[in-house]
Amino acid sequence: MKNFEGFGLNAVLTASLARMNYAVPTPIQAQAIPPALKGRDIMGTAQTGTGKTAAFAIPLVEALLSSPHGSALVMTPTRELGKQIMDIMHQLLGPQSPVKTAFLIGGEPMGKQFSQLNRRPRLIVGTPGRINDHLERRSLSLQDTRFLVLDETDRMLDMGFSVQIDRILKYMPAKRQTLMFSATMPDNILKLSKQYLHNPERVAVGSTVTPVQNIRQDVIHLSAAEKYNELLRQLGERDGSVIVFVKTKYGTERLAKRLNREGLRADAIHGDLRQNRRDKVIRDYREEKYRILVATDVAARGLDIPHIAHVINYDLPQVPEDYIHRIGRTARAGAKGEALCFVSPEDGKKWQAIARLMGIQTEDAAVTPFKPKSRNKKRGNKPFSGKKPFKSGKPHFVKRKDKSKNKKRA
Ligand code: AMP
Repeated sequence: MKNFEGFGLNAVLTASLARMNYAVPTPIQAQAIPPALKGRDIMGTAQTGTGKTAAFAIPLVEALLSSPHGSALVMTPTRELGKQIMDIMHQLLGPQSPVKTAFLIGGEPMGKQFSQLNRRPRLIVGTPGRINDHLERRSLSLQDTRFLVLDETDRMLDMGFSVQIDRILKYMPAKRQTLMFSATMPDNILKLSKQYLHNPERVAVGSTVTPVQNIRQDVIHLSAAEKYNELLRQLGERDGSVIVFVKTKYGTERLAKRLNREGLRADAIHGDLRQNRRDKVIRDYREEKYRILVATDVAARGLDIPHIAHVINYDLPQVPEDYIHRIGRTARAGAKGEALCFVSPEDGKKWQAIARLMGIQTEDAAVTPFKPKSRNKKRGNKPFSGKKPFKSGKPHFVKRKDKSKNKKRA
């Protein structure tokens, strides 16, 4: 499919796509949209940044526009992801659309959601916890909901939403169209797809565990005590927006404050922030009012900010799969990006798990040596060789000051 015209979409949708500058469908869209328009269930696996939101949003909006009856529900794991989906949906529905929407996410006042629900919305986007809450209060009815999207299903299961999803589906008609998307396809997702989907069309883009190819990945082995100064050095060397991932909520705030004291504009985001604060942090970052976002994994998935040029894993993620989602915050929509991982001796096991998942050979086996010798001499052992695009899809390794390991080997 060369352009969207071949899909025979509603004129409203065609005009919206033109306004959004979506001229050519991405591979996941080219695969998913035609069967979804025919009413088929879809089981989709796609990396972040592939255009999967529009892959389900376009057939959903088409379904809403082509009939005055029936509603659609999109379930997604996080508020941030929900906001991005809602935003794409509003863009696709176009200005002054008669289709009313409700956005049902946790952490926001119920009052606003009640009034959205009173307007008889035909599109509901939300997180499973709050959707369930409304169903139990009877402020939401899904009796007429014939189109269901489960977005980032693996993440929803990781977050413990499976019981709630199950409960929500019991409120819905059995005769419906279901589109399920997941970044990975572990056994529990396969099982769920058998349970929730009817003869689904299987669509997939690329490998389910490899991050997009145009992300250059580097690794620095260092001690925990060296991380902060190394971060300052890295920030000084890089241009553009940076997202720094740390382990704890408290850690995000502390690091952002420290960076601000150094005169570097930074802010923090984590799950304990109030919703309006979270919205402001993201909005300001999107508008480039500051350069460095320090985040826990709450921001790792779905955050779609085109100008993120660098992802720095100050601490490794708890779950190896989150590594892929973290680095997927850069290189959005075909841009190039850089990801850097700090690995300290105590990270041994976690790092091995990530390396296994990514198919990386660790330094104990043969690795792509990273030897920017001349530069290192001149610039004081800086780990980057410059802006050479990273072609092989595997990280460069930079051995640095990993004293404990050296000792062990000696
Ligand atoms: P997603 O994977 O849904 O988060 O999308 C990644 C980015 O690609 C978003 O910024 C989308 O707006 C953009 N995008 C999605 N589909 C298209 C398309 N067909 N043409 C241009 N940009 C797109």
